Amino acid sequence: MDRNRYDACVRTFFECDSRAITGIFEELLAAASAQSMMPPGAVMAQNYETAQENPEIHVLPGNLRDARDAIFPYFWGTDGWDSPLHLENVKGPANYASLVGALACLLKNPNLCTDTYSMRSNELEVKAITALANLVFYHTDSPWGVFTIGGTISNLYGAKIGIEKVVPGAMQFGLGGADVVGLVSDAGHYSNQTLAGWLGLGTANLHSIPTDATLAMRLDLLAEKLDQLYTDNKKVAFVVATFGTTDGSGIDDLAGIRAILTEKSQKYSVPAPQLHVDGAVGWALCFLSDYDTERNPLQMTAELLSVIRRVQQRTRQMQHADSVTIDFHKMGRAHYPSSAFIVNRKEDLKYLSRSVADTPYFAEAVARRDPALFTLECSRPAIGPYSVMASLNGIGLTGWQMLTARALELAHYLKQRIEALDYCKVLNMDTTGPSVLWWVLPRGRNAKDIFERLVAGSLQTDERQRFFAEIRRLYGKRAATLTPTKDARLSFTTNIGYRPHGCEIPAWKAVFFNPRTDEAIIDRLIESIEETA
Ligand SMILES: *Cc1c(COP(=O)(O)O)cnc(C)c1O
Repeated sequence: MDRNRYDACVRTFFECDSRAITGIFEELLAAASAQSMMPPGAVMAQNYETAQENPEIHVLPGNLRDARDAIFPYFWGTDGWDSPLHLENVKGPANYASLVGALACLLKNPNLCTDTYSMRSNELEVKAITALANLVFYHTDSPWGVFTIGGTISNLYGAKIGIEKVVPGAMQFGLGGADVVGLVSDAGHYSNQTLAGWLGLGTANLHSIPTDATLAMRLDLLAEKLDQLYTDNKKVAFVVATFGTTDGSGIDDLAGIRAILTEKSQKYSVPAPQLHVDGAVGWALCFLSDYDTERNPLQMTAELLSVIRRVQQRTRQMQHADSVTIDFHKMGRAHYPSSAFIVNRKEDLKYLSRSVADTPYFAEAVARRDPALFTLECSRPAIGPYSVMASLNGIGLTGWQMLTARALELAHYLKQRIEALDYCKVLNMDTTGPSVLWWVLPRGRNAKDIFERLVAGSLQTDERQRFFAEIRRLYGKRAATLTPTKDARLSFTTNIGYRPHGCEIPAWKAVFFNPRTDEAIIDRLIESIEETA
């Protein structure tokens, strides 16, 4: 081999030329900053047509600028969601404390599978998990957990523990024909379908319990369902309760669910199902658990304080969870992936564990602290722990209280403004979270009355279809005529999760994840609704 060419290649790509790297990083920052002046979404259009036809690979070794050029159009073609006009979905701009953490992580590139590979980074994971556990569990015994690649996988861990509890040894011997089922609410996230399929239950064995109008699982129907399932000799492995539904911020009654699970498991002499709490979106409300609403050091308005008092009643119930999913990459505005799976009691991890003999690569693994002995993944990124600790301690508890409360305040303000319009109806008035769901009907219609009739069951099918088509049409009309530089971007859901008489309800949707969104943007949103209806 031509040793000179080889050495040149190694020098370029394996020796850190900090000027070359920071130079490119500055260029990328400049491009991102230029884009932040543009309206949201106004980026280079996609070109899927030839993405597969032209997957060219350069022939000769280039330099770091070739690496930059290889990705730049795609970088420019991607919106970082830093415009305050982005209200579409549960996605916000990543915070810069998280960037500091994530960059530090990338420079060392630790692999969290075992601490002989990642050294202090595994310790950081333990720290980050414990910090989050202390935040979410009101009283905590012996929390433990890991970072995963997303809420879907964190939920999967919870469900898997439940399966092992009702079918001991399933990890070794499979389900062996056992009739295993899981439960979730109608407003739960579709990732529960994913895990039911992937864990071998089958999606048909994930039963969903209807919600009430606050998007919380109906406890009477949960109790009824459990009686029916146990009578039919089904093994109920888990209940995934949702703490903050994706569309409407509904929160399940964790204390109520726990009481029912205890009662029914005793009545039928079976192990209690795992109560896993999907707090992917809602966990951040726990920042407000300790906010002193009497002293009110952040000078929140009386209205916001009343929202926060309701939040506090909810977050206290987290103590009833066996395990929880926390997506820091959602309301923590951290980099992906920053999802944590946490058990309330460390001993529950035994349901997932393999022995050192099963993981021969990690002969030196210490069961006490090596996640490789129970994780789904082998190699595991450390972005989560780095982003989380940098974000938590950079921004601080008070910073997080302000960010979280502000999202609630904006959602509350939008709800009040919309509800004041006769032809509009807020569908999640009583939920405490960053999202707002509502109807816009043509002027002259009484949206509240129509909603009441829908709930009462007195709306005819053809009427309902007509109204729902109007709601959709007006959404499309606003989207087609909005001014990208001043009008917020919204999204549309075809099913908010509450299904009175089995009927799926569509809605306009706004989610306040961007800390720079303000009342002026909401006022303009209301104007645009008035112009559209
Ligand atoms: C986003 C979300 C998930 C899935 O999390 P990912 O990190 O996207 O995999 C699960 N549950 C809820 C309630 C969510 O909003």
